[in-house]
Amino acid sequence: MSADLIDIQAPAIQTRGLVKSFGDNEVLSGIDLTVQAGEVVCIIGPSGSGKSTLLRSVNLLEEPTGGSILIEGIDITDPETDIDRVRTRIGMVFQSFNLFPHMTVLGNLAIAQRRVKKRPKGEAERVAREMLDRVGLAEKADAYPSHLSGGQQQRVAIARALCMNPDMMLFDEPTSALDPELVGEVLQVMRSLADEGMTMLVVTHEMGFAREVGSRLIFMDGGNIVEEGDPHEVLSNPQHQRTKDFLSRVL
Ligand code: ADP
Ligand code: MG
Repeated sequence: MSADLIDIQAPAIQTRGLVKSFGDNEVLSGIDLTVQAGEVVCIIGPSGSGKSTLLRSVNLLEEPTGGSILIEGIDITDPETDIDRVRTRIGMVFQSFNLFPHMTVLGNLAIAQRRVKKRPKGEAERVAREMLDRVGLAEKADAYPSHLSGGQQQRVAIARALCMNPDMMLFDEPTSALDPELVGEVLQVMRSLADEGMTMLVVTHEMGFAREVGSRLIFMDGGNIVEEGDPHEVLSNPQHQRTKDFLSRVL
C-alpha cells in the first residue's frame, strides 16, 4: 500500500514475530504486539528486557533482524516504504529531553516543523504556542531550556513531538530522569493526552499511571511478552511467576 493511503481500519501499530539481535545477543525474540488507535499500552519489565529496543524498532531507529512492523497498515520493514513519511506520524519522547540549549522554547518547537513539515515561520510558531498551551507552558515560550525545571523541559519535549501532529506517541521512561517532585506534572500531561484519545505506547516504572491511565499492560522479560492484559488484573493478579517476582520487587 502507498504511504499516502492511511488504512483507518488497521491497528496503529502491529509487530509480527519481531526479532532483533545485536550480534549473538537476541534482544527481541519474536514480539507480536498490536496497538489499536486510541489505546494506551504500558510496558513494564526489568532492565535489559528489550523495552527500549521494541520502542525504537517501532519507528525503525533500530532495524529488525526478523519479522515485520506495520504502522497504520503500512509495512515499514518493506524497503519500498518511505520510512520518513511514516515516522512523522509517530512522536517519540525519551528519558532525556534533548532540547537545543542555545534556542528558546519557541525556537526548539519551531525548528523541526520548519525542516520536516516545511512550515513557514509564522505557522510553525503558531502551532508551537498552541502545543505549549496544551502542556501548560504557554508563558515559557521565550525562556531558554536551562531556565526550566526538568519536568518543564520534559513537557516542552512532549509539546515538540505534538507539533508534528503525530497519530501516536511513544514514551520511553519519560519520568525516570526527573526528581520525584517533578514526575507528577509530566504524568498529568500524558494523562490529558490519553483523555484526548491519543494512541500511546509507554515504557514506564510508574505503576499508578499504568493502572489508572493504561488500557492494557504488558510485562516483558528476556525479549518476550510474558504477560499482558487489563492493568488492574496484571498488577493485582499476575499469572506468571516472572511477573510476580518483578512486581514484588517494584510495588
Ligand atoms: P530495556 O529498555 O528493557 O532496559 P534495552 O532494549 O535497552 O532494554 O536493551 C536490551 C538488551 O539489548 C540489553 O542487553 C542491551 O545491552 C542490548 N542493547 C541495546 N541496544 C544495543 C546496541 N545498540 N548495541 C548492542 N546491544 C544493545
Ligand atoms: Mg530502556
